[in-house]
Amino acid sequence: MAVAEEAAVAEHYDVIIIGTGAGGGTLAHALAGSGKKILLLERGDFLPREVDNWNPGPVFVDGRYISPDTWFDGDGKPFQPQVHYFVGGATKLYGAALYRLRPGDFSELRHVDGISPAWPLSYDDFEPWYSRAEQLYQVHGNGGEDPTEGHRSAPYPWPAVSHEDRIQQISDGLEKGGYHPFHAPCGILLDEANRPASHCIRCAWCDGYPCLVHAKSDADVIAVRPVLGRDNVTLLTGAEVTKLETDPGGRAVTGVVVSRDGDRAVYTGDIVAVCAGAANSAKLLLNSASDAHPHGLANGSDQVGRNYMFHNCKAVVALAKEKNDTVFQKTLGINDFYFATNDYEYPAGNIQMIGKSNAEAMRGEKPKLTKLAPEWTLADVASHAVDFWLTTEDLPIPENRVTTDADGNVHLFYQPTNDAEADRLYEELKKILNHTGMAEHHVLRKNFYMDMNIAVAGCAHQAGTCRFGTDPATSVLDVNCKAHELDNLYVVDTSFFPSIGAVNPALTAMANALRVGEVIRQRIAP
Ligand SMILES: Cc1cc2nc3c(=O)[nH]c(=O)nc-3n(C[C@H](O)[C@H](O)[C@H](O)COP(=O)(O)OP(=O)(O)OC[C@H]3O[C@@H](n4cnc5c(N)ncnc54)[C@H](O)[C@@H]3O)c2cc1C
Ligand code: SF4
Repeated sequence: MAVAEEAAVAEHYDVIIIGTGAGGGTLAHALAGSGKKILLLERGDFLPREVDNWNPGPVFVDGRYISPDTWFDGDGKPFQPQVHYFVGGATKLYGAALYRLRPGDFSELRHVDGISPAWPLSYDDFEPWYSRAEQLYQVHGNGGEDPTEGHRSAPYPWPAVSHEDRIQQISDGLEKGGYHPFHAPCGILLDEANRPASHCIRCAWCDGYPCLVHAKSDADVIAVRPVLGRDNVTLLTGAEVTKLETDPGGRAVTGVVVSRDGDRAVYTGDIVAVCAGAANSAKLLLNSASDAHPHGLANGSDQVGRNYMFHNCKAVVALAKEKNDTVFQKTLGINDFYFATNDYEYPAGNIQMIGKSNAEAMRGEKPKLTKLAPEWTLADVASHAVDFWLTTEDLPIPENRVTTDADGNVHLFYQPTNDAEADRLYEELKKILNHTGMAEHHVLRKNFYMDMNIAVAGCAHQAGTCRFGTDPATSVLDVNCKAHELDNLYVVDTSFFPSIGAVNPALTAMANALRVGEVIRQRIAP
């Protein structure tokens, strides 16, 4: 069955999956072939295909695809989070930079503000699942270029997306300067050897936009739609899960309470997987408190909602004298400062390119930009801009957390960590620009990439609220992402991260969903 249109019949399912993003969508794909009855519950709808998908004004200035929701910051002030409630979740808008965590990210790392803890599993444990996730999401990349990457059991399924001329010049300049630029791993359905047959047209509207022609490897296109034709898979859209009910002993989820078109329905499943994204998964567990779980479902450790991370990021625009005619810019990465170096004893992070600036999205920055280049119009500024994204690891500290209030609303307290490392990375970027033909550069924090001023609103890389581990006293999930305290509850999204590293998180969520999917598949096998 494809999409259920009518009010749901309270049928029993083998597996209920809540949320269809990188975690939930991939999990559904992993389980669909089992033939078991699977129910996907997604609070959003399919993202509309319309010309505005590729229009920077509606997308970046008006926030057309930001789903209405209200969270509250640490001072109790309401804000609109940068969330995307659609089939495919945040991956509908993501930049499809599909990185593996580095092997060192799985070990304890010392940072300027504290310790990034070790994972209970190693890179080697994840490696086969990374390979499978790269195959599924058709990742383009060149193994062996980046000295920080781990071993791989299979090559990337597609060659790296090629650099356009300006980016190639930058890459060459960096290499001459002794750096190790690499082709960024990317999930787009581009066939450069056969452009007429390629789904992807290699346009400028990728990073932060939905793909109008469905050529981005998002969880909707790659994982959910392909399984909707199966009789054993049902998707309910507009179905927000508001509570999980348990048996009196609290060992099993016995009811999944859904609000849909103002109606309430309760579904039952042998196994329930919560994949609502780090903040909303914590919200659901906390709002499911009961006599058996007085502090929230699966929260005997008091860790649900804690250790929220979302990276310490900066978008940066460099203005050079040379024009930058690049169309698809997100092809280059630099990890020379990812770990400690001889010059700096802490990991500083990852540098990558982001989608090319355009005048429309720059409108809000006009006063600053015109000060830098007074003789230029915004269109001139945009045509000279080279755009970077700097990511530093933030630490999982217990005080950075999601809580809920009496009405069930998300309250998000977050204070940044590792600012000194992030500043260091920014300084390194400015230094390396000297090797890229941008000697007379201007460099500017690019705030228009995220048009909301409240730092916590930019929750694109949210993770960590239900971390996995071996000790039920300090973690919510076991190493298979099953709740320590329940027999049939799994959390399969970025919530499980004990630390976040400094590369984009989606591939790790996808790989983990394939890994946990195999555990569940074996469990439900006849
Ligand atoms: C603009 C942008 C750019 C990004 N770029 C990159 C990138 O280049 N590379 C990268 O690796 N990552 C990127 N990310 C991050 C990446 O998209 C996320 O890390 C990833 O999607 C997280 O997966 P998830 O399964 O945890 O959550 P999501 O993908 O957000 O999925 C959660 C799903 O649960 C649904 N849901 C929530 N609450 C409920 C409920 N109560 N009931 C039912 N359904 C519910 C949501 O609607 C959503 O579909 C980007 C994100 C954004 C926003
Ligand atoms: S670059 Fe390709 S995948 Fe990205 S939006 Fe354009 S057509 Fe879609």
